[in-house]
Amino acid sequence: MPADRRTRILIVGGGFGGVYAAMELERLLRKDPDVEVGLISNENYLVFQPLLPEVISGSIGILDTISPIRRLCPNTDLYCREVESIDLTTRTVTASSGFRPRPYKLECDHLVLALGTLTSFVNQPGLEEHALPFKSLGDGLALRNHIIHALEEADIETDAEMRRALLTFVVAGGGFSGVEAVAELNDFVRKVARSFRRIERGEIRVVLLHAGPLILPELPADLAGFAQRLLQRRGVEIRLNTRLAGATGETALLSGGERIPTRTLVSTVPAAPHPLVSALPCRKEKGRIVVDSFLEVPDFPGVWAVGDCAWILDSKSGKPCPPTAQHAIREARCLAGNLVAGLKGRPKRAFTFQALGKLAALGHHSAVAEVLGIKLSGFVAWLLWRTIYLMKMPGFDRKVRVAVAWFMDLLLPPDIVQLKTGNSPGFGREHFEAHEIIFRQGDRGDRLYIIVDGEVDVVREAASSVEEVLARLVSGECFGEMALVSDSPRMATARSATAVNLLTVDRDGFNALFSHYPPLRRFFQQVINDRLRPEGPAKAHPAANAGRDHPSS
Ligand SMILES: Cc1cc2nc3c(=O)[nH]c(=O)nc-3n(C[C@H](O)[C@H](O)[C@H](O)COP(=O)(O)OP(=O)(O)OC[C@H]3O[C@@H](n4cnc5c(N)ncnc54)[C@H](O)[C@@H]3O)c2cc1C
Repeated sequence: MPADRRTRILIVGGGFGGVYAAMELERLLRKDPDVEVGLISNENYLVFQPLLPEVISGSIGILDTISPIRRLCPNTDLYCREVESIDLTTRTVTASSGFRPRPYKLECDHLVLALGTLTSFVNQPGLEEHALPFKSLGDGLALRNHIIHALEEADIETDAEMRRALLTFVVAGGGFSGVEAVAELNDFVRKVARSFRRIERGEIRVVLLHAGPLILPELPADLAGFAQRLLQRRGVEIRLNTRLAGATGETALLSGGERIPTRTLVSTVPAAPHPLVSALPCRKEKGRIVVDSFLEVPDFPGVWAVGDCAWILDSKSGKPCPPTAQHAIREARCLAGNLVAGLKGRPKRAFTFQALGKLAALGHHSAVAEVLGIKLSGFVAWLLWRTIYLMKMPGFDRKVRVAVAWFMDLLLPPDIVQLKTGNSPGFGREHFEAHEIIFRQGDRGDRLYIIVDGEVDVVREAASSVEEVLARLVSGECFGEMALVSDSPRMATARSATAVNLLTVDRDGFNALFSHYPPLRRFFQQVINDRLRPEGPAKAHPAANAGRDHPSS
């Protein structure tokens, strides 16, 4: 590191691991002028996932489960971007572009990886298309909206079979998140059914699929048994030793071949390694980054990892740490302590943590808990569950909001508003007045443009700052495909010659079409070949209309 530069620490990921590492670094460094801490995450808030199931029933507000990272770590530079690649050797992170499609690179002296895991439905036919994941705040909100939509449809549906499918809700996964999700879902649909004039509570079917012989395998068998019986009493049909094998738009396919007609299938099956983590050249165990007892990545000096993405062996028990928020928080604190110890030349501390307990909420003011070896169930466990999570909720304002929401929930009926939020992902419309820059040479290729009306100039900027107009494109032509196909920066600048309306397809949408629809792939390849030909496009080819002899992107 050059002597004139401050030590840069960059944390990748704004979940429990990342945010608590930043908070602890701030505490330990006390605005040390020689060190700067940055955190890059695709969201500017921390999701308090243990409360996510409550978003389904709306017993707390959607925004109550999250805390703004800027408030939790006021002295940390927050970069709210999607990370696209990580170079461990140079400790460089490349992030997506923002309003300006410029590639964004961050270099640092210490890189902390806290990317968590992702939901993956790979090798499970139909789940990507038809199952609802349950991990992020967006998933919770989408699920709640979907459930209300199903109830709205069931209320006016006259076909008996369709109605049955609409009123059948299937949750796969009998671990903590699956059980808490099914408990909230079951409470919610049965409670709100009375607001729908044609839905009888008895028509509602809620099914929990679990691969093992008893739900909540992380808990002692007597507590898990209590939870199982309680859910069954409340009408949840629990299918043990049964896996979800796949899905269609109308059915959940079970491992034994049985099909359950449903329009709501939620999958909380274990998450898969983050693709960015899978791509790293370091050692991994079960897809997680192997770290030493101080939480550093061996062979990559200055690289650290915590939370669900890291494979951490407890230094006392020698056992791998489970992927829980409890552990991620302790790991983050230990990592921050070791990082600062390294900077100040002090000894580091090996990570060890004995979980304090396990809690699962079962809806209806009941829960099961094992805390410091003491087993609790029912209302007392629920009260303890709420108290603990309220205390753990980061930020005073969020504690107050959650406490008020819980109190109001005791008095008021659940909300049944269905929020309609989405635009169609991938496609957009843009308007430019004459002589505005659409994208610049050197920008990152982030979308394809189709001219609806108006005209666009494609110009190349030379080093002498003299520009060469390569082509004028008109309505019906497209541009911007070359940088997407070759994954390289824009080779020219696009500027509106007149007022112009454009249809855009983003990178993911374009890549999906390009890779899965061969005629389209052939079409664009031909367009690109034509554009790169010095003598111009072949007249006979259908791409001739869309191409000119210029690199349009
Ligand atoms: C529904 C549910 C309930 C849970 N309940 C409990 C519980 O009661 N108790 C408990 O201890 N644990 C619970 N957990 C587990 C706990 O939430 C996780 O163990 C914990 O969140 C792990 O923290 P992390 O920082 O490693 O990962 P995460 O919290 O997943 O954070 C990863 C971060 O990386 C960011 N990120 C990912 N990809 C990119 C990218 N390409 N670019 C930029 N940023 C990116 C994400 O936005 C996120 O901010 C629950 C989990 C779920 C899903």
